[in-house]
Amino acid sequence: MQERIVILGAGESGVGAALLAKSKGYDVFVSDFGQIKESYKKDLIDAEILFEERGHSDDLMEGASLVIKSPGIPEIAPVVRKAIDADIEVIDELEFAYRFTSKPIIAITGSNGKTTTTLLTHHLLKESGVNVALTGNVGFSMARQVIEDKAEVYVVEMSSFQLDAIQTFKPNIGILLNITPDHLDRYGYSLEKYADSKMRIAKNMGVEETLIYNSDDPVTHRKVGGLEKGISKASISVLFGETAVGYKKDNSLVVVSGNESFEIPENHWPLRGEHNVINMLAAIVAATKLGISKEDVLKNLPTFKNAPNRMEYITTINGVDFVNDSKATNVEAVFYALGSYENDIVWIAGGLDKGNDYNQIKQLVERKVKVLICLGADNKKLFDFFGPIVSNISETRDVKMAAKMALEYANNHDVVLLSPACASFDLFENYARRGELFKEAVLELKKEVDG
Ligand code: ADP
Repeated sequence: MQERIVILGAGESGVGAALLAKSKGYDVFVSDFGQIKESYKKDLIDAEILFEERGHSDDLMEGASLVIKSPGIPEIAPVVRKAIDADIEVIDELEFAYRFTSKPIIAITGSNGKTTTTLLTHHLLKESGVNVALTGNVGFSMARQVIEDKAEVYVVEMSSFQLDAIQTFKPNIGILLNITPDHLDRYGYSLEKYADSKMRIAKNMGVEETLIYNSDDPVTHRKVGGLEKGISKASISVLFGETAVGYKKDNSLVVVSGNESFEIPENHWPLRGEHNVINMLAAIVAATKLGISKEDVLKNLPTFKNAPNRMEYITTINGVDFVNDSKATNVEAVFYALGSYENDIVWIAGGLDKGNDYNQIKQLVERKVKVLICLGADNKKLFDFFGPIVSNISETRDVKMAAKMALEYANNHDVVLLSPACASFDLFENYARRGELFKEAVLELKKEVDG
């Protein structure tokens, strides 16, 4: 009899896992508590995979030997408990996909910078002629791509939820960018628990594998230093210079490769800001470890274009640059965004507060921000904290109005920066929609002004 696999959740990862399981000859059933997107239904129907939606049937687990759940479903969900109580193995899509490929994997995690670094690593490999798959939280699911397993290398963006669910998953190269407070609500408000989750990237790694980590970040530094087992480590750093494998020297990135090193001058950098120096170093060190040459790095780095909503330059109106950093949903990301500009800043911030401590950016705001426009449903915390520091604070719930006010307050050479430090769900569908609407509003303003 065929082994039965039950898949919980029919998003990109669940459907990918279902397609992979089916291709390997399993009896597959997919169950989603909500409604399944039409395109995913089509994928399942085309592959002759049975599914249910808007609830889980009572006998769902009967005869199952393996359950694959979406990373969004916590272990405490009743349907998962039911499987665990029945001694059925429960894993996630990445763990499942991993069991069917032996290709090299670069896995990237951290509180901030994952997508940027994942996309850049992918870009450097792809443009150098490597057949590389972009996966994890970006692109198509790894399971879907493992069906044909055509890629020579998998570049995987991993969140802490995905790391929580791995068992044997072992990247050849792991990248740990930073560990700063985020999602603490999911970790009992304990930074230590959240950090342990991030450290699971190294769970199965040994001396054959390389952990690239940001030694400037205190929690990362401490946690990696505390690793007891033998594991190859490669540090990247802006602060500690020449002891690292990748570091910044004057206006160049320096990457050590074997007994040699090479420099990448600033005019080759596609991204600005100190945080992006770390991201670039991580991606370049990973690429060189996979054999990408210095010539290819120098040729291909400058052509990288980051995903939208990450310090994305929109346009200039009356000498004022408008920047969309809607993805900055925590204080750490804002810290780096504010630090990336020499100019005076008109800062647009606010939204759903995830327990922010603004002390970290107090001095920066004092120095750089001349106007704060709050764009949230409830802006009291921002008013209370920044009231004594920023002389000009106002608020609006309308993104068009925010753009308009910003232009009014800004002078030639100022930067208008949407970098909210907060989630978007109070006023918008998600951070991407917030960024898109801001961009639209700014471009409309430009039309009005330029005629
Ligand atoms: P993630 O996928 O981890 O959310 P992104 O690359 O999408 O990371 O960037 C999210 C936000 O964090 C953006 O506002 C970006 O400017 C900022 N950011 C990017 N890299 C870093 C970093 N290394 N440290 C701190 N903030 C960063």
